[in-house]
Amino acid sequence: MNDSLLEPNERARVLLRAAIAELELHVAELTSQAVGGTCAAVAGTLAGSWQRLVPLIAPEPEPVRRSCPHCQRRIMLAATRCMYCLQKSSPAAGAH
Ligand SMILES: [Zn+2]
Repeated sequence: MNDSLLEPNERARVLLRAAIAELELHVAELTSQAVGGTCAAVAGTLAGSWQRLVPLIAPEPEPVRRSCPHCQRRIMLAATRCMYCLQKSSPAAGAH
């Protein structure tokens, strides 16, 4: 993925999604490994808090637009032809 083609807001959302995904992994790992006693109780409380927090901070879904490889303007993710420069491009190639 070429970060320089992302708009600043979009870049922030990509980073936020990555951070959330990473934290989700850590919380899941912690809750699966903490068995019995105080550790398990704390892990359970943490998992609960995390699950309440995620919907509040979760950014919008994955972007539905990508950069045109020819003119770099934002076009629909599934577009096969740029609406600005009319060049053809593959949806998979520039998707991010
Ligand atoms: Zn274009």
